[in-house]
Amino acid sequence: MKTKQFKSESKKLMDMMINSIYTHKEIFLREIISNSSDAIDKLYFKSLTDQSVGIKADEFKIEIKLDKENRTVTVSDNGIGMSEEELDKNLGTIAKSGSFDFKAENEETENVDIIGQFGVGFYSAFMVSDEVTVETKKFGSDEAFRFNSKGADGYTVSSCEKESVGTTVIMHIKPDTDDEKYSEYLDQYRISALIKKYSDYIRHPIVMDFETKKPIEGKENEYEDVVEKRTLNSMIPIWKRSKGELKDEDYNNFYKEKFMDFEDPANVIHTSTEGAATYSALMFIPKHPPFDYYTKEYEKGLQLYSKGVLIMEKCAELLPDYFSFVKGLVDSEDLSLNISREMLQHDGQLKLIAKTLEKKIKAELEKMLKNEREKYEEFFGAFGIQLKFGCYNDYGMYAETLKDLLIFKSSDNGKYKTLKEYKEQMKEGQEAIYYACGETAERIELLPQCDAVKDKGYQILYLTENVDEFAIMMLREYDGCKFINVCDENLNLDSEEEKQELKAENESAKDMFEEMKKALGDSVNAIRFTNKLKNHAVCLTSEGGISLEMEKTLNSMPGSDQNKVKAQLVLEISATQKIADKLKELYNTDKETLGKYAKLLYGEACLIGGKPVENPAEHTALVLELMTK
Ligand code: ADP
Repeated sequence: MKTKQFKSESKKLMDMMINSIYTHKEIFLREIISNSSDAIDKLYFKSLTDQSVGIKADEFKIEIKLDKENRTVTVSDNGIGMSEEELDKNLGTIAKSGSFDFKAENEETENVDIIGQFGVGFYSAFMVSDEVTVETKKFGSDEAFRFNSKGADGYTVSSCEKESVGTTVIMHIKPDTDDEKYSEYLDQYRISALIKKYSDYIRHPIVMDFETKKPIEGKENEYEDVVEKRTLNSMIPIWKRSKGELKDEDYNNFYKEKFMDFEDPANVIHTSTEGAATYSALMFIPKHPPFDYYTKEYEKGLQLYSKGVLIMEKCAELLPDYFSFVKGLVDSEDLSLNISREMLQHDGQLKLIAKTLEKKIKAELEKMLKNEREKYEEFFGAFGIQLKFGCYNDYGMYAETLKDLLIFKSSDNGKYKTLKEYKEQMKEGQEAIYYACGETAERIELLPQCDAVKDKGYQILYLTENVDEFAIMMLREYDGCKFINVCDENLNLDSEEEKQELKAENESAKDMFEEMKKALGDSVNAIRFTNKLKNHAVCLTSEGGISLEMEKTLNSMPGSDQNKVKAQLVLEISATQKIADKLKELYNTDKETLGKYAKLLYGEACLIGGKPVENPAEHTALVLELMTK
């Protein structure tokens, strides 16, 4: 028999488990029981179509045995079991290895979070045990195998005798220390309570020999010691229970265990319907995105049950992409047990369920937005981006559905606004919804282009994510109001008179601008005077459909190298500040310096707009020249 090494990540986790100061060590039992339950589900599912399984539905069970003398807690199941190879693979490595890597790198605080964030599964046994033995026999095989490990040093796998199909996990409980009374896990009452707390809904009976005293018949006040088998769990799936009898804690525990989260969910949606579609659903909106949420690896979907039996782990058809963060399950009587994935996709019943669930989720979010604003803002911080992508994707097909769930920071003290709120708070005479783009709200505040809009008393929505402006563009307008980027060349803020005046001014400076443009080449499309600047001399705006921010975003996308997008930029110069006169003077006296000024002003505008200065060396030299003149 050879001792094998754990894969390095597994070893790390194992070390952590062994030395864990985790306050919820008790969850080890729930993890081991869940594994048993899953294994039974698999065999049960097989038994529906395979006569050779030979176990009746009501014979499936999980057994717990406590042995105080030998300090062992044993959990056995008559589930599907594992082959030698599976034993090695499943218990010698961590299935979700990538996730662990990620967490380990982000390990800042105590390991509480790491253990919680990561579905620790089987290894959690090592939080309370100094030796774990697993004996297992796979359905369809004659051979049984034993896995044994005393900790991070490694494990052995060998042949063993085992009569029936299934798995037995024997945990040797650690000795008590000053801080930790591990012996509590050998106590039948403690174990019963743990099962009630974490595993009550497990569909299969969890039975344990319970030592108790019974009155002796015919003799008053005399008792005898008896051992009786007790089923410790009620076995009613939580989603089949009435809402009235469930406490927040029940939902939270269920969620955390089932969906491997360390935090309670933000919201719970528990609903059942009869009629066109008959189903119960239990859905959760998490407080934070799972570690892989914004990666390609993330799979959306709800668990799908048919009459209490799990038929699919992740049914993607049940959730639209924009609600992909929702976790949960659906149990329906309308679906057949052995329906295939392909058939499901075309199943009308399933589509109907999906539609109603989507409405429920949306309604729940709307309710949160209305009644629990702060919580909604937190939710939006975590998943808002998904809703915004939802607006933009599929050519804006779902923009209508989602538009009232969007919130954006605003110039009103940085507060979040819905589009509806913005619209309601619009000033008299204001016709459009103004927005500005930038990396952060603070940067946006500094944009010279915002001044004129704020001066009018209009609010500005701050768009700080790349996707924001694209989402807004898909909406085109909200309730009859167009969206206008404050960096758009045409802000439409001036009165007719002011417009005429400015037009005349620009007309007369036409030749001067031509001269300046010569110095700037292709960098800008046009140069103009503007009225909108209050505290700055210049700014960059864009004409046409592509803004400066969109240019940045599009050009940062993969594959954009050959196909650079270019915003059509306009260099706007304040018509009312001294610089205007200075330029006019130079045009008449010193064209060479005018060209240098054009370059300088363009550089300044780039700096303020968050666009890299095209030629920093030249820019700096010009500034120096001016300074030393
Ligand atoms: P998880 O359950 O999250 O996948 P675990 O570390 O708890 O992670 O278990 C790893 C794998 O080992 C399981 O996915 C399963 O395939 C197998 N396994 C664990 N316990 C049992 C069991 N009692 N019966 C059959 N297979 C099991």
